[in-house]
Order: sequence, then C-alpha cells, then structure tokens
Amino acid sequence: MWHILNPIKPLSINKIRQGGRGALVGFVIGVVLLVLWVGGLFAQTRLRLNDAYYAPSPTTGQVMIVAIDNASLSAYGRSPSEWSRDRFTDFLNIASEAGARTVGFDLLFSETTPDDEQFINAIIDARQSEARTRVIMPMVGLTVGADDYTQSVEYADVLMPHSGFGSVVENRGFVNVYPDADSTIRRQISSVQYATADGIFTGHSFAIALYLAYLRIPTPAIPQVVTAEDGALNITPERQIRVDVNGLWMPNYFGSPATDEQSAFVVVSFLDVLEGRVDPAIFADKAVLVGVMNSTGITDVYAVPTSTGGTRMSGVEIHAHAFESLLQNISFREQSSTSQLLMILGLAIFTSMVYSQLRWWAMLIIGAVMMVAMSVAIITYFDMYLVMVNLFYALLAGSLPIGANLMLDIVTETTRRQLTEAQLSAEKQVSALRLQVIAEKDQQNATLNELSMLKTRMIRMASHDLKNPLGIVLTYGSLIVEDVQADSTVMSQDHARFVESMVKSGHDMLYIIEEILNLEQLRSGNIKKDTLAFGFLVKEVVERNLMSAEEKKQTLTLVNPPDLPLVQGDYRQLFQAITNLVGNAVKYTPDNGIITVKLLQRDDMVRFEVQDNGYGISEEGQKNLFQEFYRVRSAKTAHIQGTGLGLSLVKAVIEAHGGTIWMTSTEGVGSTFFVELPLFEGTLEDE
Ligand code: ADP
Repeated sequence: MWHILNPIKPLSINKIRQGGRGALVGFVIGVVLLVLWVGGLFAQTRLRLNDAYYAPSPTTGQVMIVAIDNASLSAYGRSPSEWSRDRFTDFLNIASEAGARTVGFDLLFSETTPDDEQFINAIIDARQSEARTRVIMPMVGLTVGADDYTQSVEYADVLMPHSGFGSVVENRGFVNVYPDADSTIRRQISSVQYATADGIFTGHSFAIALYLAYLRIPTPAIPQVVTAEDGALNITPERQIRVDVNGLWMPNYFGSPATDEQSAFVVVSFLDVLEGRVDPAIFADKAVLVGVMNSTGITDVYAVPTSTGGTRMSGVEIHAHAFESLLQNISFREQSSTSQLLMILGLAIFTSMVYSQLRWWAMLIIGAVMMVAMSVAIITYFDMYLVMVNLFYALLAGSLPIGANLMLDIVTETTRRQLTEAQLSAEKQVSALRLQVIAEKDQQNATLNELSMLKTRMIRMASHDLKNPLGIVLTYGSLIVEDVQADSTVMSQDHARFVESMVKSGHDMLYIIEEILNLEQLRSGNIKKDTLAFGFLVKEVVERNLMSAEEKKQTLTLVNPPDLPLVQGDYRQLFQAITNLVGNAVKYTPDNGIITVKLLQRDDMVRFEVQDNGYGISEEGQKNLFQEFYRVRSAKTAHIQGTGLGLSLVKAVIEAHGGTIWMTSTEGVGSTFFVELPLFEGTLEDE
C-alpha cells in the first residue's frame, strides 16, 4: 500500500527535473505577482487583510472627548464656528479650573468674531492657572506642495487659527488625514514643511502637537525634541513613529468608532458640561479634546480599519486614537519594499518547488497547511514586532503555484498517456506484422520441406528407376560398340560415332546417378569403419592426378610426414572425397599452375591441405560452395564442366567421418581447402 499512499511522486530520476520545472513555474508566478504589486492591483484587498492585524487595546483613560453632539448643535446652532466664542471661553474656564492638562479644539477658529477678546484672555488665563492648561488649535493644509505625494507632504497654503489666537496659542497641529486606496483612513501627517509670508516652518499632526503640549514641552524646544530620521520621526527619545515614503504616519492604534452607547474614550456632551450636568473634576490632569461627534449630518467622519457595519469615526476621535498611540507607544512598521519583493518571489519559487514533488492531494493538503501556518506566523510576527507584513501577496505566492503545478501535472499526464497509447498501438502493429512474417516464413519452410521431400523422392527415383534402365541402355550400347569394333561394316561410320557418343554420355549420366546415390547413402549414416593409412590414400590420389596435372603443365607436389597417421573410415568414400579436392585444384587452376598437397598432424587430428594458385572463388561463391549442384559462375571457369555435386559429397564424407572441412580463397590468387579427420586412437592389433 505504501506506494499508493506515498504522497511524493515515485519517479526519483525525474525529481530534479520536476524541481527545476517547479522553480520556473514559481518564478513566472512571482514575476506576475510583482507586476500586480507594483501596479497597485488588489491594493484594497491587501490593505483589508492587513487590517486583520489591528488589535484594539484598552485606552489609558488619559484622553477625554467633549462631544459637540446633536444636543449641543440644537442648543447653540448647527455651525460651531459661528457660535459665540463665549461658549468656548466658558468651557475653557471650567476645564482649566478643574485642572485639565491640555484642551485641544478640533474646530477651526479662522474667522474673527466680537467675542474673541474674552476667549484669548481665557487661553492666557488657562496657561497661567495652577494646572498650566495648554490650548491646542488646528491648522489645515490647503495646497499640497509641488513635490506632490512623492516624497513628503508639503503645504504651500495653510489655513490657521486667526492671528489673534495665533499669538496666544503656542501649539498648533495639522488635522488633515489621508485615505488609502479603499477610502479608509490609516494615515495622517507626521511632520510637514509649510510656507507663510514669514518663511518656511515645520508643523506636526494635531495628535503630535497635543502630545508635546501634554508633555509640557516648551514651544522653542520642539525642534530639539522632534527629529526626523529616514523613515521615522523621533518624538522624545522614547517615542519613534514610523513614517511612509510620503512622510505620512500610520496611526498605530484604532479602537472601534464610537457609537451613541459606547466609545473607547470617556465622552461627555459639550452642552452637558456648560449646563453643569458634568462634574468638572473628570477633566483633572487629562488631555481634553473638543470636537463634533455623535451628531447627525456632520461631514468630518471617516472609515477606519476597525469600522464595521458602516460606522465611521469622527475626526476628533481619530486624533484621540492617534494621541493614544503615542501615549501607549504603539508604533507599527510596514514591511519594506525590498522585503516584499523577496518574499513574493522567494515564496512563489519555494512553494512551487515543493508542490512539484507532490501528488495532487498532498499538494492541496500541504498547501492549505502551509498557508494557514504562514498566516499564523505573519500575525504572530506582527504581534511581536508590530510589522505589517504583506499577507495578501504572501498568500497568493503560496497558493497560486498549487493551481499552476496541478495544471502542469494534468497536461504532462495527458500527454504521457497519449504517447503511451500511441506507442502501444504502434507496438501492436509491429507485433501483428511480425506474426504475419512468421506465418509467411512457416509457409515458406513448409514449401521448402515439400520441395526437399520432392527432391529426395526424385533422387530415389533416379537411383532405382533410372539406374537399371540406363544400365540396360549402356549394356546394349556397349555391345554395339564392341560389334562395330569387330566388324566396321555393321553400320555406317557416322552411326558408329553416334552410338559411341551415346554410350559415353550414358556413362556420364551413370556417374551423376552414382554420386547422388553416394550422397544419399552417406546421409543415411551407412559408412564402413576400416583402419586406414590416410597418408597412402592421399599419395595414391595425388599420383592418379599427376597425369592430368602434367597435361596442363602444372606442378603437383605432395608434402607428406614420414610417420603416416592412421584414421578410421570408408576407404572408397575418403578416396573419392580427396580425389574431388585434388581434382578440383587441377581443374580450377590454369596451365602452369602450382598445386601443393600437404599432410600434417595436429594433436589428435590429421590435417589435409590442398593449395592452388588458380582462379580462386568469389566471396559470394564461398558462401554456397558446399551446397548440392552449386557452381560458381565466372567468365574464366565457365568452360570447365562439372555437376556442382563434388564439394557437397566431400563435405558429407568428411562430416560422416567426424571431421571438418573449410577453405580460404581469393579470386585470381588461388584457393586452399582444409580437411581435418580424427586420428585412429587404438592399435592395429586391436583391429
Ligand atoms: P564441380 O563439379 O562444378 O567441380 P564441385 O562441387 O566440385 O563441383 O565444386 C563446386 C564449385 O566450386 C565449382 O564449380 C568451382 O567453381 C568451385 N571450385 C571448387 N574447387 C575449386 C578450386 N580449387 N579453385 C577454384 N574453384 C573451385
């Protein structure tokens, strides 16, 4: 079962290749993701996934919101900036008398009104009161500098509290917030350069201004206390806030937006405070923020990361949260671009390489486990180091390779199957063809067997049916020849010559028939086993051929060892075989040729060699030489008569005697025929 359940693909030779393929797939996916990432596609999804990390934490209780709510608006008018400034004078007096540390107004006092004098005096009084209450007023950047959002926010035009307040309010802060691609507020000003008629100044966000006032840092000391660093703003040595490339600060703490029933902060109604329904003691030592909140129809409300069900957060509450982030010293960092780039590419390649080694179901299981583990790791990492890692692209880089590898597997498998099927059908065709060839061969063999049987029958017929009638023809023919020799008048001279020639041809026929019969007899294994002096036999054959050699002026010599070895066999047949070999040498060697016959002993064999420097035999001829009726066809030997039976007879005789025959020959140079016969192993007495 192991091989069935094994989640890793079994073809180990292919593993490296698969890994390489996986890496390539991962690389392609990584590059595509990077293009999307650079193009800001899916930015909303990415931002929302990161919002999952925002963990609202309990507030310190140091911040209080005084809400200009529906009740306050209906009591004093729909537009607080048009209210009599006495309302704020009264409020400031109550708060500073109660010991408020700071009072921040998230209301723009840019217009002068007849009651400003008292309010200005109240601000001065508050500053000189026992609690030394500081007042913070907002300013708004109107025009973004030429640099746009590329490096840092820079204001060319700023709306400030009007100059009367400007001279007494030391702490001013920007209330601008910046929506992300999903219209959600995560960022606001950290610090910004702004120009006025008096020169270029640096300003900070409202929350930072509030915080500096809360710490009672004197205005002239602020440039020393707040220092900018690459990607960070240091506010006092203990506080460092991370800023993005545009100089915007991501407020680090967002509780849920307040509802009528509850808020992360203590919220009281402005009207209630003025009408004495709130105990002023709650302001003691607090950072108090005044702004429009919990009222219908206001525009200063925004979606924030923790907004649910369409609940938005008012501007004053956003500043309260940003201030709270500074109090609690919660500072997030965003993952750097380089790290995002490496993570997307690296993850895509790595996971794809892993998946490429797995079967589809293991791919899905391991992929899911890896994705969950990665999400947990990223969220844990955020909890520990407050770094917002790009979870969205990490998830894509980890999961897209599953689909890609699955698809590739399906394609590869389909192609492989198609190939195998094609191969199988090709093999089937080949084996069908083979079967056909075998059947045809069988047929051929059967035909050959039939032919061979036919041949044997013909040979028998020749032996039994032709030999006797031929014998009769020859006997009578010879008688006629004898009669003619005795009396030449018996028939005309011409007729006498015809008969003579008929008798001669009849003898030739008889010779062929006898050779055929001889072969048949040899093949039936009927040979005599006499002990023979092979040397004498050969000598006898050579001597008998001397005449015909001399006729062709050939030199025929015999090299014979003194101790002539004995062999066992049929004298008549061996004599015939050796005669054929020596006879062939004489026949197939032109005039003046040299023929050498050698006898020598090789271990337990006697070797006979007959070498000539005659016509030689072509390679093609050598292959078929020992077949019955085979004659080598060449122009030079065409005139020589023969039957093609001689060598097959020689081979049959030698093999019937347990010997071997072979030859070497070069056309135009000559031939050598070799015969080896086993020596007689007994002694003559045994015979
Ligand atoms: P044949 O009756 O034709 O001589 P053999 O069986 O004796 O028949 O020889 C077969 C053929 O082998 C011959 O036709 C001849 O061409 C070739 N041959 C045999 N011996 C020799 C030789 N010594 N030199 C060249 N050719 C030879």
